[in-house]
Amino acid sequence: MPKSKFSENMIKIRCGNCKRINYYTRKNKKTVEKKLELKKYCKWCRKHTKHTETKK
Ligand SMILES: [Zn+2]
Repeated sequence: MPKSKFSENMIKIRCGNCKRINYYTRKNKKTVEKKLELKKYCKWCRKHTKHTETKK
């Protein structure tokens, strides 16, 4: 178990197209069950793509 509270709820947001990790965020534990899906800009694809969370 990591002692740092900062890293406890960290998740990575990954581009669904190129699978690269573009964003980091923290997530409320209450919403952990639900997978995030975000429309975000990917600098690798140079367009807005569907981004999903990936754990650890
Ligand atoms: Zn991409």
